Amino acid sequence: MTATIAALSSGAGKAGVAVVRLSGPAVGAALRQIAGGAPTPRMAALRRLRGAAGEEIDRALVLFLPGPASFTGEDVAEFHVHGGRAVIAALIDTLTAIPGIRLAEPGEFTRRAVENGKLDLTAAEGIADLVEAETAGQRRQALRQAGGALERAASAWRAELTRALALLEAEIDFPDEEDVPALFAVATATATRLVGEVEAALAGAARGERLREGARIVIAGPPNAGKSTLLNALARRDVAIVSAIPGTTRDTIEVHLDLDGYPATLIDTAGLRQTEDPVEAIGVARALDRAGSADLVVWLSPADAPADPPDLAVPLLRVATKRDRIDSPPQRCDLAISALTGAGLETLTDRLAQAARAALEGGEAALVTRARHRRELEAMAVHLGRVAAADAATPVEFAAEDLRLAVRAIGRLTGSVDIDEIYDVIFRQFCIGK
Ligand code: GDP
Repeated sequence: MTATIAALSSGAGKAGVAVVRLSGPAVGAALRQIAGGAPTPRMAALRRLRGAAGEEIDRALVLFLPGPASFTGEDVAEFHVHGGRAVIAALIDTLTAIPGIRLAEPGEFTRRAVENGKLDLTAAEGIADLVEAETAGQRRQALRQAGGALERAASAWRAELTRALALLEAEIDFPDEEDVPALFAVATATATRLVGEVEAALAGAARGERLREGARIVIAGPPNAGKSTLLNALARRDVAIVSAIPGTTRDTIEVHLDLDGYPATLIDTAGLRQTEDPVEAIGVARALDRAGSADLVVWLSPADAPADPPDLAVPLLRVATKRDRIDSPPQRCDLAISALTGAGLETLTDRLAQAARAALEGGEAALVTRARHRRELEAMAVHLGRVAAADAATPVEFAAEDLRLAVRAIGRLTGSVDIDEIYDVIFRQFCIGK
């Protein structure tokens, strides 16, 4: 029998209220044992919760959400208890001592929702993104996806492809030379139209993925230019090691920032210079690699020892640091800052926010928000492209196989084929209780 799963679904740590969620066939038995019976479905009821020996654990709001009209599709109960550690521990211990009930794994509630057909995989990913969303733009994008924006597009594509495929398969099973051109015309017209739609969705992919992950801003420059110091000043907390020894920042350090509502990842790189030290050399190589995929490279060099950046094919902002060390205006830079006096930091933050906005704007409307989506849509476009280019000389079987492979790519996208391998990767990234 399916296990019934229990978990704390609200945040860890002391809080006014904590929500413990239970899903599965043992929900009714659990409610009888600890809450004196199941409350009226979907109505909040104030109940005394009792432990195995009948002792009172807490008084709590209890919700009973019978399946299949619940989030997971199974019987679900929610206990809104006082959010103290001991209360939560006593409730979870009592629940998991009931036969058939165990602790939930990360993402297991959502996984059940997908397995029971309540959500497709892309909507489930939207829920994960909603939990992770740190900025308003990320929240809106995640909400759209959790609401099934990509799911609807995918199911419309699948319906059209299945129809075209059925026509071709009928032709393969009951060959009739005269019908072939007409059937081909339907298949190629469908494929041509869908290639256009898939490519339009892919066009927004970069922004959609960026919005999820944040714009990438790389801080680079020679050792001792003041990169770590700047990062700390920007992040307003001690995240990077600040030291006067060149090459201390051997690897990269990433900090997530909200720049005027636009998410950004600031990446502090190792000193960009030729080096004999193998460990540092790896850091330098990685730094250059990062800089190559950045939305903006902020090139720092000391006002009293200016250095030129390497050639990079990404937007560059040249910043002179340690402005306090020289009297005359610094040379060879777009702006000058001093982490010591705070001069220029506000202008710099504005410039970073502008760069993040430019990299992310338009992302909210994107259907494609993950590399996984992009891969499947690209596969779809390849197969559909072949069908679109088919002519009288193309065997019907070939066109049918390409349509089948395109449908399969949609199946991987929405989680209806190759389920186990995809699910394991995706649900592992969820938090427990979701
Ligand atoms: P990184 O190697 O580029 O990360 O450089 P750090 O941030 O570790 O800074 C190198 C040295 O420069 C440290 O001793 C910092 O205190 C100093 N420094 C950083 N910013 C400033 C600044 O604005 N003014 C002055 N005078 N010193 C600074």
